[in-house]
Amino acid sequence: MRALSELVFHNTYSELPSDFGTRVTPQPLSDPCLVSVNPQVCALLELDPAEAQTDYFVDLFTGNDELAGFDPIAMKYTGHQFGQYNPALGDGRGLLMGEVLTSQGKKWDIHLKGSGMTPYSRQGDGRAVLRSSIREYLASAAMHGLGIRTTHALAVLSSATPVYREKVERGATLIRVAESHLRFGHFEYLFYTEKHGELKLLADYLIQHHFPDLLTAEHMPAPAQPDRYAAMFHRIVSLTAEMIADWQSVGFAHGVMNTDNMSVLGLTFDYGPYSFLDDYQPGFICNHSDYSGRYAFNQQPSIALWNLSALGYALSPLIEKELIDEALNTYQPQLQQHYSIQMRNKLGLQEQLPQDSQLFSDMFTLLANQAADYTLFFRTLSEIPHDEIAQSANRFESFFGCTQALSAWLAQYADRLEAEPRDDTQRLAAMKAANPKFILRNYLAQQAIDAAEQGDFTMIERLMSVLAAPFEEHPDDAHLADVPPQWGKELEISCSS
Ligand code: AMP
Ligand code: MG
Ligand code: MG
Repeated sequence: MRALSELVFHNTYSELPSDFGTRVTPQPLSDPCLVSVNPQVCALLELDPAEAQTDYFVDLFTGNDELAGFDPIAMKYTGHQFGQYNPALGDGRGLLMGEVLTSQGKKWDIHLKGSGMTPYSRQGDGRAVLRSSIREYLASAAMHGLGIRTTHALAVLSSATPVYREKVERGATLIRVAESHLRFGHFEYLFYTEKHGELKLLADYLIQHHFPDLLTAEHMPAPAQPDRYAAMFHRIVSLTAEMIADWQSVGFAHGVMNTDNMSVLGLTFDYGPYSFLDDYQPGFICNHSDYSGRYAFNQQPSIALWNLSALGYALSPLIEKELIDEALNTYQPQLQQHYSIQMRNKLGLQEQLPQDSQLFSDMFTLLANQAADYTLFFRTLSEIPHDEIAQSANRFESFFGCTQALSAWLAQYADRLEAEPRDDTQRLAAMKAANPKFILRNYLAQQAIDAAEQGDFTMIERLMSVLAAPFEEHPDDAHLADVPPQWGKELEISCSS
């Protein structure tokens, strides 16, 4: 474990040509303090968690001090927002501070969100508020705890600097840590500004640092194509398909799937008005500003493909159209395959039988019609021995509309389990490992935020401890897995942050 001053840096992005961004110094926030630090993310960086308790750490990540290894840069990217191309994007309120190298040679971007204005701030103030920083902090930990690829958040810091949104709020920063901050929009920028030499350079950079196996011919996708860039795009398609399958199976709605919020490494990226489903509502729109429902929960798979097509188009100077289409055509089957593995795990099914599709479609219809709590449904199912299932409808009552309708499905499910070779204890253990007890419900995040705005950070710590291991029981915090209150289901989250 190292002190901040002992971190080793290799700032590869800032070695790229000047088109790729602008050097900017963070602007100080006044009277800063630490809100929370995630020791798991410290461990990724091999950073001593005690460092986060120092004034130096707080000053460094609120623009009040410097670190020699940092070379802060606002990345330039563009992207499609709600389907419209916007050339004016880029890090408008964040900076890539530097890239840490671990003793194993793994590289981590350290990005400071809320660090002040940059040339890409447009009308924005370059700031982030405490509320949205806490939401990103908690969600990053929740997704990682669920085993879903995501950016990480090292810490949240608060300050006395006023930031004006619908009301006056506290300026805050979030330290984001990720293998890379490259977005689909980085490539779109170079394509639309006709910087095709730089486009190739960025593709080479991505392959060199993140997909180095593609440098060797035997890892080319089938049919064997000696085309490194096509292989790169194939990889991005696969990573995206897996990420979306993970989102859909756990009930995560991102809310703003613009191409500038899509990571080329398939990381869940830029937590804004996201939401984990409470009731199962396939058409759920978590972003209050998404009037048309473009980013509704059940639209995510097709939107990701739309975004991949936009990326494919931006890569057209490097890859033949046929090969782009070939890669895009692998998206749907990969998504389906990954999703079906996840959903079978959720029901504890090892065998694949013809009647399963009926079992699943009946289940989804039932969940939607009865406004069932998505997470509690599967977790409860993971607790019921086979011989009790058919008679267990009453155990679902507190989060299920009409349990009479459920009884028939439970009987169908109990019947289906007859065909499973696995013993029941093992099935239940496997199901508990596939169905989280705890998710980051909106109302829990809101309670943590309300307390934090009053200077009490204990709820954040409580949530962090269950979210880090959401499949475990945590008997002392079991109430955090309860049915959400009605007000909690009705919270409106906008893009404002
Ligand atoms: P988002 O909707 O979070 O993906 O952000 C879209 C774009 O707006 C990005 O270029 C952000 O950097 C920029 N942006 C968001 N909030 C602010 C802000 N408060 N100040 C400056 N730029 C911002
Ligand atoms: Mg964004
Ligand atoms: Mg954002």
